[in-house]
Amino acid sequence: MLTGKTLLNYARLVVKVGVNLQKGQGLEIACPVEKPEVAQALTKAAYEMGAKIVRVRWNCDSIDKLNYTYANTDDLKVIPKWLVDSKNYLVENNFCYIAVAADDPSLLKDIPAQKIGEVAKARAKALKKFSDTVMANGIRWCVVSVPTQSWARQVFPSSKNPEKDLSAAIEKTMRLDYPDPISAWEEHVERLERRAEYLNRARFSYLHFKNSIGTDIKVGLCDNHKWLSAKEIAKDGVPFIANLPTEEVFTAPHRLRVDGTLKSALPLCENGQIIDGFSLTFKNGKVVDFSAQKGYETLKQLLNTDQGTLRLGEVALIGKNSPIAKSKILYYNTLFDENASCHLAIGKGYPTTVIGGEKLSKSELKSLGLNDSSEHIDFMIGTDDLSVTGVTDNGEEFTLFTNGEWTI
Ligand code: ZN
Ligand code: ZN
Repeated sequence: MLTGKTLLNYARLVVKVGVNLQKGQGLEIACPVEKPEVAQALTKAAYEMGAKIVRVRWNCDSIDKLNYTYANTDDLKVIPKWLVDSKNYLVENNFCYIAVAADDPSLLKDIPAQKIGEVAKARAKALKKFSDTVMANGIRWCVVSVPTQSWARQVFPSSKNPEKDLSAAIEKTMRLDYPDPISAWEEHVERLERRAEYLNRARFSYLHFKNSIGTDIKVGLCDNHKWLSAKEIAKDGVPFIANLPTEEVFTAPHRLRVDGTLKSALPLCENGQIIDGFSLTFKNGKVVDFSAQKGYETLKQLLNTDQGTLRLGEVALIGKNSPIAKSKILYYNTLFDENASCHLAIGKGYPTTVIGGEKLSKSELKSLGLNDSSEHIDFMIGTDDLSVTGVTDNGEEFTLFTNGEWTI
């Protein structure tokens, strides 16, 4: 179980390898209210590493649900100025930010998709400045997870002790079962970096994804695109890892050069609702058709958030033998599920996935092909038989994946 010594090791890993907190820095932690021991362990680890102040913001799923059930959409759409200011405060004062994400995946299943969509849209709009800064690595941030009752029950519905089972699974994906988790992460990160370097040298024009469930799509890459892996460098020059666990090597698709159809490989959980068995068809970078066996309305809301949610903002490669993929567990949580399989994201692209992108203006990024939106939503397309071919400007082809795994 994620308790005692294991929990403290976990917290140290997140503070050191995740946000890489420096002496004298402030830290904000967002944490589910039913997991005070996690916030406490993170706080302790942060002070051990010389934090000057740690602040915790508590989230509560059941209060969120009551709000969505009883409050009017118009009232829910009001995002108070103090909330926006408190986020911008983190940027202005160079705080690190840790989000402990452990939402109940089907929390809002009985709430109309439109209501959720409208509120999410208002929130994303109000916090756009902060999310833009975060996505350009203006602060060091890290998203992690811990098991909660309601989430664990969904992952292991027939287990006697679902929280314990989910805890064991998360410990494995976090490499906490290694004698020295911090050095295990350093080795892993190096391996991912080597793949990113190969792809950066190759300068592919587009990637061709194909499998037997009907994915056949050419994803053009941004001009001057840059492949990144786990380790990123923040604006202040200090490296950090934005997601723990992470297995991906990723870059920016070109907003105008995506053609073909993709089929989802895993369900997508977004805003407390589940979308499953969906497909998207693209022409010149834009979604022109879509379908879903489950959650069609939710998908429709997501795609219609703004102009940018009809285009791609990320393409990520993950082999099927990653510890998360090998566990064969469906987590109903993007942090884990996106690391189990190759994925794409609709919405905003990361300026950091363009060479020198942090210093470019919005219009310069757009002219290189980077997509912009108030949202960024990952979904999985990798299957056991997925093939990925990289194609250069002069038509040369290189096999990157066969049967769902790296060939390089
Ligand atoms: Zn990703
Ligand atoms: Zn993403």
